[in-house]
Amino acid sequence: MHVKIVEKLVSEHCDESAIGSQHFSFQEHEQIIYLQHQATGLQAIIALHDTTLGPALGGVRFLEYENEQAALKDVLRLSRGMTYKSSIAGLDLGGGKAVILKKKGAVLTEALLRKYGDFVDKLGGQYITAPDMNTNMHHMVQIAKSTRHVVSLPPALGGSGDPSENTAYGVYICMKAALQKKIGTDSLEGKKIGVEGVGKVGSWLVKLLCQENAIVYVTDICPKQLETITASYKVEVVHIPEHLYSMPLDIYAPCALGATLNGQNIAKMDCSIIVGAANNQLACEERDGRLLLEKGILYLPDFLVNAGGIINAATELDKGFFNKKNLVKERTEQLYYICLDVLDRAEQQKLPIQNIAKEIALERIQSVRTTWCH
Ligand code: NAD
Repeated sequence: MHVKIVEKLVSEHCDESAIGSQHFSFQEHEQIIYLQHQATGLQAIIALHDTTLGPALGGVRFLEYENEQAALKDVLRLSRGMTYKSSIAGLDLGGGKAVILKKKGAVLTEALLRKYGDFVDKLGGQYITAPDMNTNMHHMVQIAKSTRHVVSLPPALGGSGDPSENTAYGVYICMKAALQKKIGTDSLEGKKIGVEGVGKVGSWLVKLLCQENAIVYVTDICPKQLETITASYKVEVVHIPEHLYSMPLDIYAPCALGATLNGQNIAKMDCSIIVGAANNQLACEERDGRLLLEKGILYLPDFLVNAGGIINAATELDKGFFNKKNLVKERTEQLYYICLDVLDRAEQQKLPIQNIAKEIALERIQSVRTTWCH
């Protein structure tokens, strides 16, 4: 295994001119492993952020990055988010993530995925891999040929399958909690909701929103996705994705890429609530969390809102829990009460909701660490 020790520490800061490109600290991470295998063209990074609560479970993303530094920033921030996500959702899992650096025109071959699986296996279960952007349960089948530390395998092979439907269910539940807090009722009927990105999660979400008679606006950069969604549901298409930010909406649901909550977009936003599945929605956590608070927009943090995916995947590890769809649903519905708790505390302390959610996630980790010391 090719392992590079990363020594240089960079501090987190935000640069208005470089939205979404903040530098990021890796002081908190337990391990950062660089993988390289020439014959298959594999170049990847696995980041283990924190394993206090259990093995680090997180997806593997296959993406073309500007450079290695950009891939590192992505995996560091995503793995940290996984720690918060599992902790706040009450799972006995730590936070980790992997990125496979995509070369122009490259595809994921079986040889590359098996090699990646070899590396995951050498970590002895400290990291459990899963699908993420541009990887799916069929890729997990190839990875499973080299390691058993992989989840979200197809149901036909005894796995929990694609987590997107349950991720969308969690987003829907959190939308209800946000409405309950903001207006005292959690009905979505007649609410204007803008969904950015109608891929796997976005399209399941649209289904749930339409079932409850919400007024749904959708946008996507892919015309085919828009065609599919308009063929099945009564929704209005916003042809220029950026127009969604300035529309008067009850809820804006980012379900595409991260960093859409940046200074520039927040300035023109005219929504009451932001609840969506995309990871890393705040371009700069501190600055943009405060901007939303000052604007009176209720923003529920992504790592809490999209926890339905990991709740689904975790069932594969818990044999007693396995195949009990109703328990996955019940556990996902608990997100409603977690959201209300976070929102109440944020209101009392007059702090950004993101800060409170992180505090709750870290409290649980800290309490386990304290137990170790006694
Ligand atoms: P996906 O790739 O299936 O869908 C994303 C959609 O967004 C695509 O249709 C794409 O065309 C569209 N898109 C991309 N850039 C866009 C832009 N600038 N404007 C508008 N649309 C754009 O991905 P997904 O699995 O649905 O995941 C969506 C987000 O949720 C991602 O950020 C992912 O990391 C996060 N997430 C997903 C899950 C899950 O279970 N799939 C779990 C947790 C978090």
